[in-house]
Amino acid sequence: MNRERHPVYWDPEIETLPRERLRALQEDRLRRTLAAAARSPFYRRLFREAGVAVEAIRGPEDLGRLPLTTKDHLRQGYPFGFLAVAREEAVRLHSSSGTTGRATVVLHSARDLETWAERMARCMYMTGARSSDVFQNMTGYGMFTGGLGFHYGSERLGMLTVPAGPGNSRRQVQFMQDFGTTVIHAIPSYAFRLLAVLEEMGIDPRRELNLKTAYLGAEPYSEETRRRVERELGVRVFNSYGLSEMSGPGVAFECPEQNGMHIWEDAFLVEVLDPKTLTPVAEGEEGELVLTTLDREAMPLIRYRTRDLTAVLPGPCPCGRTHRRIDRIKGRSDDMFIVKGVNVFPIQVETLLMGMPEVGRDYRIVLDREGDLDVMTVEVEVRREVFQGDVKSLNALRDKILAALKSEILFTPRVRLVEPGSLPRNEGKAVRVLDRRRGS
Ligand code: ADP
Ligand code: ZN
Repeated sequence: MNRERHPVYWDPEIETLPRERLRALQEDRLRRTLAAAARSPFYRRLFREAGVAVEAIRGPEDLGRLPLTTKDHLRQGYPFGFLAVAREEAVRLHSSSGTTGRATVVLHSARDLETWAERMARCMYMTGARSSDVFQNMTGYGMFTGGLGFHYGSERLGMLTVPAGPGNSRRQVQFMQDFGTTVIHAIPSYAFRLLAVLEEMGIDPRRELNLKTAYLGAEPYSEETRRRVERELGVRVFNSYGLSEMSGPGVAFECPEQNGMHIWEDAFLVEVLDPKTLTPVAEGEEGELVLTTLDREAMPLIRYRTRDLTAVLPGPCPCGRTHRRIDRIKGRSDDMFIVKGVNVFPIQVETLLMGMPEVGRDYRIVLDREGDLDVMTVEVEVRREVFQGDVKSLNALRDKILAALKSEILFTPRVRLVEPGSLPRNEGKAVRVLDRRRGS
């Protein structure tokens, strides 16, 4: 079955489809998707209540007439209310834990799993992964879609796939040495954990491992974090974006230009809306990403509010792919917190910290209330040499961090420098903000 592959593109026709043909494809798929969605109990009711007939939607420009779909809707439709095919046609269910309220599910048909695996293979092939590579998947399997999503894509591409899962870092390193792992997938906070363990083991990954590529995603991270992991691990890092509602990873992915992520427009219709007015923002401007599935059979989602903040980057990409690019995700609108009337995103703090060589691999933002005042403390792990060094240089570092933070967020927070490895670690995605203000 090994058909001759294009040297650069996994799916040359689709990846380089001229915009006007891409648009025609989208229109066609949108109409089918809407007709399918209208067969699900939830959308049938939603569209009826909104008073729109799906036949009236001819193309992307009419989308604004349809209501947005929210996480809350998904909860209301739990578990099978969004199913657009017979229950027997669904072959996989992923559920998100839902820290607040009821969980949500996403259902897939056999064809949905096929197209998802194909798209994941497309993403990884784009970064230079080939069947000669050994891929170690260091994210959770199970309900977390990152594990199975990458797994099937990697097998589809033909890489030797090691389903290592997260954790047990010494064993991970052993696998890398024994199997000659060249490509890994992890969440950014785990990549840092891995670097710490390599350090403990006295292994220099740049010389002693075969790694060349790392896919990092599933949580926001800064450009500085990317460069750090690249430098210390000796790899090229590619940003990977997805969410379980849109199947999981494989929604948008970086190409070798490492300048924004191509969002696969044969599979998703992209809108970027002003989070307040819910009207489209201009190209290049930041807003909330709203996505419509174009090739999902079991559970199409129409105008789903991701809450993720990003912008569509203007202009074509030199790599030749015609699908537009989105900027690094700044976070979800709910990641933002307000201190002393200022809106702050954790990523702003991270960008500053990770650009400083004395800073270690972890940080945390703690919010307290003292009397009537909000107090923000940034706890920063510093490198061991720095931590064990003299008080004067520690103080100088604290002052430097303070000054940088002040110019970014316009008030002076507190900064606490701590020993490497001392901040609490979370299994799974990092928890950046500890808000202790409530209830006081
Ligand atoms: P959960 O909602 O439980 O976190 P998901 O795995 O579906 O489960 O998380 C998807 C979310 O993770 C996205 O909506 C986005 O906020 C975040 N995310 C995923 N990939 C990236 C990325 N490359 N950069 C920043 N955030 C990301
Ligand atoms: Zn590109």
